[in-house]
Amino acid sequence: MSSSEDIRDNAEGESVVSRNFIENIIDKDLEDGSCEKIVTRFPPEPNGYLHIGHAKSIILNSGLAKQYGGDFHLRFDDTNPMKEKTEFVDSIMEDVRWICGDLDKEMVFYASNYFDTMYECAVKLIKKGKAFVCDLNAEQMREYRGTLKEPGKNSPYRERSIEENLDLFERMRAGEFEDGSRVLRAKIDMSSPNINMRDPVIYRVARMEHHNAGEKWCIYPMYDFAHPIEDAVEGVSHSLCTLEFEDHRPLYDWVVRELEFEHPPKQIEFAKLYLTNVVTGKRYIKKLVEDGIVDGWDDPRLVSIAALRRRGFTPESIRNFIELSGISKAQSSSDYAMLEYCIREDLKMKRPRMMAAIDPVKLVITNYPESEIEYLDVANNPENESMGTRKVPFGRELYIDREDFMIEPPKKYFRLYPGNEVRLMNAYFVTCTDYLTDEDGNVTEVHCTYDPETKSGSGFTGRKVKGTIQWVCADTAKQVEVRLYENIVDEQKGVYNEDGTINLNPDSLKVKTSYVEPALAEAKPMDSFQFVRQGYFCVDSKDSTEEHLVFNRIVSLKSSYRPK
Ligand code: ATP
Ligand code: MG
Repeated sequence: MSSSEDIRDNAEGESVVSRNFIENIIDKDLEDGSCEKIVTRFPPEPNGYLHIGHAKSIILNSGLAKQYGGDFHLRFDDTNPMKEKTEFVDSIMEDVRWICGDLDKEMVFYASNYFDTMYECAVKLIKKGKAFVCDLNAEQMREYRGTLKEPGKNSPYRERSIEENLDLFERMRAGEFEDGSRVLRAKIDMSSPNINMRDPVIYRVARMEHHNAGEKWCIYPMYDFAHPIEDAVEGVSHSLCTLEFEDHRPLYDWVVRELEFEHPPKQIEFAKLYLTNVVTGKRYIKKLVEDGIVDGWDDPRLVSIAALRRRGFTPESIRNFIELSGISKAQSSSDYAMLEYCIREDLKMKRPRMMAAIDPVKLVITNYPESEIEYLDVANNPENESMGTRKVPFGRELYIDREDFMIEPPKKYFRLYPGNEVRLMNAYFVTCTDYLTDEDGNVTEVHCTYDPETKSGSGFTGRKVKGTIQWVCADTAKQVEVRLYENIVDEQKGVYNEDGTINLNPDSLKVKTSYVEPALAEAKPMDSFQFVRQGYFCVDSKDSTEEHLVFNRIVSLKSSYRPK
């Protein structure tokens, strides 16, 4: 029953999109009339930040609603008062808006607004003889539940009369009983091979304040009871969830059937998105944040949606990545390199290509007139003419990248070394004549001469050079901070140590003092650029100021991923 969405070229060379298994189910439900309008939902529990895995669910659900002309709901699954925080509600809203492009206010729902309905539903079950108040304590409950091999035993309270159950449940609500002393259970089947069906608890007593409902309730519904009701109340047609809920589906179906909803929603499970060698678990990310290893939930090395946004990923790149990963029932793991491929592809034609010296070293052109600055015409994006040109200052003193000069180069090194000639991108040919070092032997200055005949765009054809390097004019350059990121995990060793701690990569963040073209002085938070020969970079939205620009490396230009 698995078929991921596949894009293939047919014999005529057109792209054909084969439908995924969920679309096939929906097509059938529309055809046989069991469903008239497609309504999907994304139901996060507001107990943490969303991550790339959630993006899969958001994109899948909102995409189906759009495709079938239906509705997509963002529903906060906030029925558990213990863990939820308004801070997370706000961040989730922002993340979903960002991924979807927009989100209609009317399409935002809160499960906690249905507490009254859920209570009424519980009463209805009691009246049908399908639920009972049980006084077993937690330990006894475990004993009675049985195991995977052995059936459970009926609770001694199972045959309470409807009247007694109604009375006790009402008193549970009124606060007459201690936390944990009594629960309401569905009356299903203690001998079911599916443990979820062995008279599951559907309401418990818990004196906790709720972020939305305040102190109105001291009883709260359990997830497996609440969720199908939330879906049914909102008219959700297809309730998509991840595979671990497969065993809960019979209970989901039982709840919507016994409550006699006119249009019962249908639960469909799909495989979670996993990223190879990347930490996605909420628990681990929380620990990295609490231990101060990362700078909050939106640290650009994480794959929370807030972090990806801050790093400079676009919603389009994430959508393409999810599409390439496919929707299926088969568990699999996607490669981070594929996500990197998607952002490169998205930015390639859209973003200006600028020059930067990330690890700068001075280059002096000894035969260039002192204090002269000339302005060269440079294409903003040579692959996209519509992006126009800009003027880039050039002078006697430049900065180049340290790795573009070597005193003793290995074979096949075509960049600068004593005696070698290279092209300064968009400018002239220069030949290295000399260099200076400090007492430790570090290169502090490279000296060159230039050939005025070789100006870029002048049609010079006298000779060719093998290397081209980027540069920025020292007099006009803007000094900035550049943050180079790598995986937070040491991939050689695997993600986790035996004791469950994370194998950290000590080089996951390198901070550089760099020089960029003066045109970048105007860059605003979230603006992104290609730095030629280096990668794509985005102005940090948290730490960057006009005086002190901070650029995050989104991705380098080198790719280890090959699209099929
Ligand atoms: P985590 O596993 O990180 O704790 P969660 O499942 O507890 O996440 P919820 O807020 O319950 O987080 O999830 C909201 C929705 O997102 C659910 O429908 C869930 O199935 C889906 N979801 C969570 N993780 C993934 C994933 N890795 N891939 C696809 N969907 C996911
Ligand atoms: Mg969950």
